[in-house]
Amino acid sequence: KEDTVPDKILLLPDNIANQIAAGEVIQRPASAVKELLENAVDAGATAIQLIVTDAGKTLLQVIDNGSGMSETDARMCFERHATSKIRNIDDLFHIHTMGFRGEALASIAAVAQVELKTKRAEDETGTFIEVANSTVTNQEPVAAPNGTSIAMKNLFFNVPARRNFLKSNAAEMRHIVEEFTRVTMSFPDILFTLTSNGQQLMHLEPGSLKQRIVQLLGNSYNAKMVSVTEQTDYMNIHGFTGKPETAKKTRGDQYFFVNNRFIKSAYLNHAVMNAYRELLPADSFPMYVLFIDLDPTQVDVNVHPTKQEIKFEDEKIVYAFVQAAVKHALAQFSITPTLDFDL
Ligand code: ADP
Ligand code: MG
Repeated sequence: KEDTVPDKILLLPDNIANQIAAGEVIQRPASAVKELLENAVDAGATAIQLIVTDAGKTLLQVIDNGSGMSETDARMCFERHATSKIRNIDDLFHIHTMGFRGEALASIAAVAQVELKTKRAEDETGTFIEVANSTVTNQEPVAAPNGTSIAMKNLFFNVPARRNFLKSNAAEMRHIVEEFTRVTMSFPDILFTLTSNGQQLMHLEPGSLKQRIVQLLGNSYNAKMVSVTEQTDYMNIHGFTGKPETAKKTRGDQYFFVNNRFIKSAYLNHAVMNAYRELLPADSFPMYVLFIDLDPTQVDVNVHPTKQEIKFEDEKIVYAFVQAAVKHALAQFSITPTLDFDL
């Protein structure tokens, strides 16, 4: 009798599948900072606290005064692909929230111990839930202020290889501050605080974009930025760009936001550098904080899990517009190339 070769494919258990998927979304504590702050913003919060211990390795907590969640939603939010932000594929091209993939909390709950406390204004009591390894281990009603607190403890406690991969506290803290800066820059009308090992590092009062930039990047920019604003039917741009004397030898304070989302774009950076071409020596980098707004149908934000890379429907238009807007701003403030007039 012939030996039958057995089948060999098995479906992975949910918690393993979640751990694998989490690798794309949660690489380090700073990834959780981005996701949790964005959730708080999406929940309509006006005050958001970020609290970390040991650069987020031991504890990373975000407390907001936003919409809160019902008891059922408080359980549901940890399921993969569970989201209140989109309902169908068309919605992907009309996104007005920071989140939409329904992956962040499922990912965090797969690779850390999570404590969620949440209450909606319309509810008498709130809900407390503990989750670890993608499994709810405790749930009870609790007295709570309106809003949500999510505490992520002992990141990668169950994935030692990834825990070992984390950098020093100083290095992880730099990543945290970077993500905190990117999110808080976009929402100057929200109060944010950052507390590390019991010490408050930042307290960002609500104010104008200019005030927020100065709070985040330093007072020295206060008198050294020119305002950029242009509007067309296709797109708008607003923000600030540094006077040439603020340029540094390292690329540092350069920020693009598209529909309020921080993005990385070498292509658009090139457009700005082009606008400065005759004003700056080679290898020096001006500061800029530029917000580009255009119809969501003209951008695909779903090309990468962290959404830092996006695709423009027509990137040449965007390039030309950014370059012209920055040039125009610099010219308006009489910052033009110095010419040697021999009169
Ligand atoms: P996404 O943000 O892509 O929808 P998440 O996993 O980040 O996915 O969150 C899942 C859902 O949990 C959200 O759609 C939202 O309904 C709810 N949620 C998460 N964080 C908060 C919060 N801070 N306040 C209120 N609701 C929240
Ligand atoms: Mg989210």
